[in-house]
Amino acid sequence: MAKAPVVKNQELTVTILDLTYEGMGVAKVDGFPLFIENALPGEEVQVHVLKVEKQYGFAKLVKLLKASPDRQVPVDKAYTQTGIAPLQHLAYPAQLKFKQHQIEELYQKQNLAVPVLPTLGMADPKGYRNKAQIPVRQVNGQATTGFFKRRSHDLVPLEDFYIQDPKIDAAVVVVRDLLRQYGLTGYDETKNTGLVRHIMVRRGYFSHEMMIVLVVTTWALPHQDDLVAGIQAALPEVTSIMLNLNDKRTNVIMGRKTRLLAGRSYLTDQLLGNTFQISPLSFYQVNPQQTEVLYTKAIEAAGLTGKETVIDAYSGIGTISLAMAKHAKHVYGVEIVPEAVADARQNARLNGIDNATFEVGKAEDLMQTWRDQQLPVDVLMVDPPRKGLAKEFIDAVGVLLPPKMIYVSCNPATLARDLKALAAFGYQATQTQPVDMFPQTTSIESVTALTLNAD
Ligand code: SAH
Repeated sequence: MAKAPVVKNQELTVTILDLTYEGMGVAKVDGFPLFIENALPGEEVQVHVLKVEKQYGFAKLVKLLKASPDRQVPVDKAYTQTGIAPLQHLAYPAQLKFKQHQIEELYQKQNLAVPVLPTLGMADPKGYRNKAQIPVRQVNGQATTGFFKRRSHDLVPLEDFYIQDPKIDAAVVVVRDLLRQYGLTGYDETKNTGLVRHIMVRRGYFSHEMMIVLVVTTWALPHQDDLVAGIQAALPEVTSIMLNLNDKRTNVIMGRKTRLLAGRSYLTDQLLGNTFQISPLSFYQVNPQQTEVLYTKAIEAAGLTGKETVIDAYSGIGTISLAMAKHAKHVYGVEIVPEAVADARQNARLNGIDNATFEVGKAEDLMQTWRDQQLPVDVLMVDPPRKGLAKEFIDAVGVLLPPKMIYVSCNPATLARDLKALAAFGYQATQTQPVDMFPQTTSIESVTALTLNAD
């Protein structure tokens, strides 16, 4: 085994060649990669080696000797420290190129010749998130809100979350101050004590309705009525106040049980002309403006004429299904979270759509059922979580062989892997369109159209 050409605590000058998918600068010393936070391609930097592994090392930027023309002055160092905005030091047009380039590189590794279009970005790439899940911890004896430092559970107190809807930031401060006023404690992970673990807020971009959920360790929350009255007095937009019980030692934010304290048990919002009700445990895209762009691209790619049978796998509350149902014969949705499926069924009724049906279950299981029933599928729409499609799912696609597939992905690594597997069944990806759903962060969303080769 060759020895690493650098040692811990060494200082050296390097040139940054690339950015990793996590947004770290990459330099090479005799071919040995060093990863450096807050360093951009083209920059010359003096670094201090922090850690040396067998195949790579980490170093810290000590001095910027030559800056990239794409470097931006960070808005606030805390946003890098916490990972709220790990790309804030990169100019927005360069962020969009970075995302396109990341997908291209992953395709190259899989030998996929699929064109990747320039990323569609936002005109104003901040304040976009319609959802917050803010940890509450005791700091100096009082409930404090903020965000964890990256790769830790140390709370950095924050009031302005930069990429979140400012109305949500303001609501979090109101709730925090009420917790302080009534002496309600934040959670302590090491001792598993304290009352409030997280504050979850969702705000409808189009509806302006707001939902506040307190994730608590006990249903017996003292001063519950005072809290509700205080929230209602300070925040007239709030249409829903709920408790969610999470009494386990876990990193999962929400528990399985919620209780209504005031208002409705769901939030309402609009997307592409449809109205949606959204329960606290249901998934809902966090960037509403860009979601409309993403869905429009997906629907265009499907080329619907009104005659098609469509499967929408990983359908959530039915946002894509219902948009497609207006232009198709029938849409079959499948989704694993029962509350989301209940929302989807209700949403179909709410919008007068009677040609969309939804099943609770694993997409990979339902695909096998549909395969056994030989459902004549014209368009298969998939929007899986980060881990991508299960092998059983892809195998069932290989039997059902829908002529068209649309793949919405939030993780280009599993997307590239799945496109490779689908190519074996004759699926040719025509192009990938990245849509920036998460400006200032390294997350990459895209929509890819696939067609089945006739031969
Ligand atoms: N298309 C929807 C939801 C996409 S997010 C929208 O745009 O809003 C992915 C969804 O897949 C989530 O709702 C998640 O609950 C669901 N999910 C995760 N694993 C699943 C599985 N194995 N089978 C079906 N649904 C799953």
